[in-house]
Amino acid sequence: MAQTGGDEKEAVKNYFNTAGYERWRKIYGETSEVNKVQLDIRTGHAQTVEKVLRWVDEEGSMTGLSVCDAGCGTGSLAIPLALRGASVSASDISAAMAGEAERRYQEALAASGSKAPKVAPKFEAMDLESVQGSYHTVTCLDVMIHYPQDKVDGMITHLASLADKRLIISFAPKTLSYSILKRIGELFPGPSKATRAYLHREEDVEAALQRAGFKVTKREMTATSFYFSRLLEAVRV
Ligand code: SAM
Repeated sequence: MAQTGGDEKEAVKNYFNTAGYERWRKIYGETSEVNKVQLDIRTGHAQTVEKVLRWVDEEGSMTGLSVCDAGCGTGSLAIPLALRGASVSASDISAAMAGEAERRYQEALAASGSKAPKVAPKFEAMDLESVQGSYHTVTCLDVMIHYPQDKVDGMITHLASLADKRLIISFAPKTLSYSILKRIGELFPGPSKATRAYLHREEDVEAALQRAGFKVTKREMTATSFYFSRLLEAVRV
């Protein structure tokens, strides 16, 4: 692992603007230029996104609802939400990822043949700690894996302060079997592993949500061979 401890945020930002951008742009894309592990991660991640879309669809129309997608990556969630009519503010610490999300949105809009939504989505290069405003729903998928629990506590507090009604987050859960898997992964690092991966105890995440005035209302787990992600919906109480 090239970057451990120290200032995770700077390391993560550099990674997702360089090698990480190349790696994740492919994983979160549709091209065949991925290896078996990357394909497995693509499949798992797509399942997480589908679960979120199912949840929001079950609640009714997204038209006009404001959504902040923090750490939007290449827009896997922000784009379908925008195409559903939500007013989306998407941001990412990596300018390369946010730029790719914007490009993919234009492509998806053209392919969908639908009219541009009344409120065009915004894609910005910004760390989630700097995001301001108030939104009906705040989403943050698969970002916390890059940070230790003390940083995640602060992130949850901040994201919760932006959310009027609903917070949807996902993280890699810290269970015995996943801790062992992670340890094995660390012993045999692949060439493109350049950031640390942190697992989080669900109780710790839930406690941070509770302190911020939110109650968990929905839970899902996605696990493929190399991807595992716990998904929580929490609402303001
Ligand atoms: N949420 C997206 C998704 O599920 O498709 C992307 C997930 S990707 C594994 C993690 C993303 O989090 C990267 O695009 C990275 O640049 C971004 N990120 C990491 N730390 C961040 C921070 N402090 N603020 C905003 N974005 C961050």
